[in-house]
Amino acid sequence: MLRIGLTGGIGSGKSTVSALLAERGAVVVDADRIAREVVEPGTPGLAAVVGAFGTGMLAADGSLDRAALAAVVFADPEARQRLDGIVHPLVRARSAELAAAAPADAVVVHDVPLLVETGQASSYDVVVVVEADPAVREGRLVQRGLTAEDARARMAAQASDEQRRAVADVVLDNSGTLEQLAGQVDRFWAERVAPVTG
Ligand code: ATP
Repeated sequence: MLRIGLTGGIGSGKSTVSALLAERGAVVVDADRIAREVVEPGTPGLAAVVGAFGTGMLAADGSLDRAALAAVVFADPEARQRLDGIVHPLVRARSAELAAAAPADAVVVHDVPLLVETGQASSYDVVVVVEADPAVREGRLVQRGLTAEDARARMAAQASDEQRRAVADVVLDNSGTLEQLAGQVDRFWAERVAPVTG
């Protein structure tokens, strides 16, 4: 098994690169998606969040009220740490479970937006960082429905490209077209993946 850690700032193109790698045969483990699954109604994760922050975190239908939770942790770093202490171990455990279920010769891509922020680089054989010009990212996020202010605030709250670069084995530049990105993914696959997996 080859374990690839894929990261990049918000709107850099992680999901797009994941899809390109999946087309080439990789198994994708998506940390954002798992982070939603581990707090679905009926999970121990949701029970733990309610235990820590109260029933005010529940919407009328019993699901997690993300806006209420965001309001609590946004202004309170200690609360954010407590939440991360609940959710991150659950995400790691579920990710490991999904990776373990893949075939022994699989290429497993872990799409982890906060790979650098959570200090997980050493968990992977290869760390791939996707970058794009901040203005290009902002434009793509606005097209996806965010306001420009929100896009900039989210970018500023994350690690910098320099911090991500420091742990990168491979940097993919997604400031250009999808075709240019696909070409870089092909090169990465030929140079770094195929020689290992045959
Ligand atoms: P997030 O951090 O929000 O999960 P992400 O890093 O996974 O984002 P994507 O969702 O892959 O990024 O890309 C962000 C947006 O930009 C998407 O709407 C995607 O379709 C678009 N996009 C990605 N790459 C390109 C490109 N090279 N040219 C044009 N649009 C692109």
